[in-house]
Amino acid sequence: MIEETSDLDEQDDDRPISLPSTQPSKDFLDTVKPSTLKISAIEGYQRCPRQYLYGTIYGFRSEEDAYQLFWQAIHNTLETLQKRLAGSDGQEANSPTVEDAQNIYSQHWQELGGPSLPFAAVYERHGHEVAMLIHSKLLESRDTNWKLRHDVTVEAAGKTIHLTVDRVEAAIAGKPGGTPARFVRARFAKRKEKPAIGTRELLYAQAYRQLHTGQNLELHFHNLSTGEIFPITLTAKKEQSLYDDLEQSIQGLERNEFPAKPDSFLCPTCPFFFICPA
Ligand code: SF4
Repeated sequence: MIEETSDLDEQDDDRPISLPSTQPSKDFLDTVKPSTLKISAIEGYQRCPRQYLYGTIYGFRSEEDAYQLFWQAIHNTLETLQKRLAGSDGQEANSPTVEDAQNIYSQHWQELGGPSLPFAAVYERHGHEVAMLIHSKLLESRDTNWKLRHDVTVEAAGKTIHLTVDRVEAAIAGKPGGTPARFVRARFAKRKEKPAIGTRELLYAQAYRQLHTGQNLELHFHNLSTGEIFPITLTAKKEQSLYDDLEQSIQGLERNEFPAKPDSFLCPTCPFFFICPA
């Protein structure tokens, strides 16, 4: 049960509702806490422990997120294009065209209900740009196998953490002169925007070393919005500081600590802004 310290019936009408502001009981937490530790949970906790409590522990849901659907439509487009290219046996005449790629995107976007969401036209337009860039990147990379959404587990900070690598690129077996395997983080970003390096990149690095012992770290960022791909550099100092943060977050999660972490940038867009006591 959730231990409530406030009673709505006793509140003045003018006071804000503070129902979910209290600490859940241990029994409740033991029942609802996820049994596996996922990177998304750690990232959510690091963003704001209280937001994590509302979203993951209490299960309060915000409205369908257009960005998430957009991301899903792009991912589905990539998968469909990959299959179509694999089925073309390297024959250009049989390969999907840019227009095909854009139509595939539109189809997935519609199937997911994208057109009914706010800013649908903007997402659809950008989706066509991204579909065109992905199409060209896939044609350039015919000698490389793209494994999408590869699930791995990483042993870090005394825990097993579940992580999905956006893309693992490796030379196609039997083809000479292939590049070493590389892990690719795929995201939408502005032109020349450097991706923030955080816990996810740290775990990508750890997973890479676990799977490719002795090889130089091959970690890259693919900006899907512009088609740019560049290496992610992790210094030893940065890695150590990310690792320390990771340990602290895991300890906070284990101690069931969910303090609010107000942030002038994050809070106004937080779906729990109106119920958060911070
Ligand atoms: S409003 Fe701010 S402090 Fe409150 S849960 Fe959301 S992000 Fe955290």
